[in-house]
Amino acid sequence: MRHLIGLMFSALLLASCGSGGGAGAVSYKRDYWGHRPGPKGFTTVILDAGHGGKDPGAVSRTTGDREKALALDTVKRVQRKLRGKVDVRLMRSDDTFVDLDERVRRASKKDGAILISIHYNAGPGGWNGPENYWWRVDSHGLATRLQHELDKASPYNGPNRGKVRRRLRLTRNPNVPSVLVECGYLSHPGEARRCAEPGYRDRLASAIARAILDQQAKGDPPGPLPKPINKPPSRPTDPPGS
Ligand SMILES: [Zn+2]
Repeated sequence: MRHLIGLMFSALLLASCGSGGGAGAVSYKRDYWGHRPGPKGFTTVILDAGHGGKDPGAVSRTTGDREKALALDTVKRVQRKLRGKVDVRLMRSDDTFVDLDERVRRASKKDGAILISIHYNAGPGGWNGPENYWWRVDSHGLATRLQHELDKASPYNGPNRGKVRRRLRLTRNPNVPSVLVECGYLSHPGEARRCAEPGYRDRLASAIARAILDQQAKGDPPGPLPKPINKPPSRPTDPPGS
């Protein structure tokens, strides 16, 4: 995750924030801040395999697996499971590096889409299990569904952060609903070994596909919407956790 975290306020966006979000000299699209229920009936799913090329992401000390390869494999499994049910676009389909801001730009081009970015995690010793990162109000239901399905599919249930609201470049900056999925901790020896099994990754992919299709069919799960929070886009220079 550390690569995704950052912050620097642009004066322009601060000004627009202070005036209540979206008002003032800058005109944003209607859903710029994502203050609305999660989408139902969306037509396109953009699947983003985290990292790639020169950026391996997390590397397991137990198996030697690299996050970038496991993420791409998982994305392709999810794509197969969604085939014929929704239009699927891949952010990358091979071992290429794509800059985070370029990923945001590509995702934001497509109206009626959602973005799911798939990763494998690394963290404190003993941490394990799936996590989901979201920021926009319209991404909360999707993150809830993803966390629920992944928790059912994974025998690892923490300690971890679970479903967490965090302003990252891929959760805050795209102007479409967006969730960053951490499938499991490669820093946990047992979980790393499970993640190395194609059958286990297939189970995770089925869970992710199920959450996407449930959201497409039913919209948000029951429950109140989270409060809107207006903050400027995440920048690579942001301090961690801001
Ligand atoms: Zn990652």
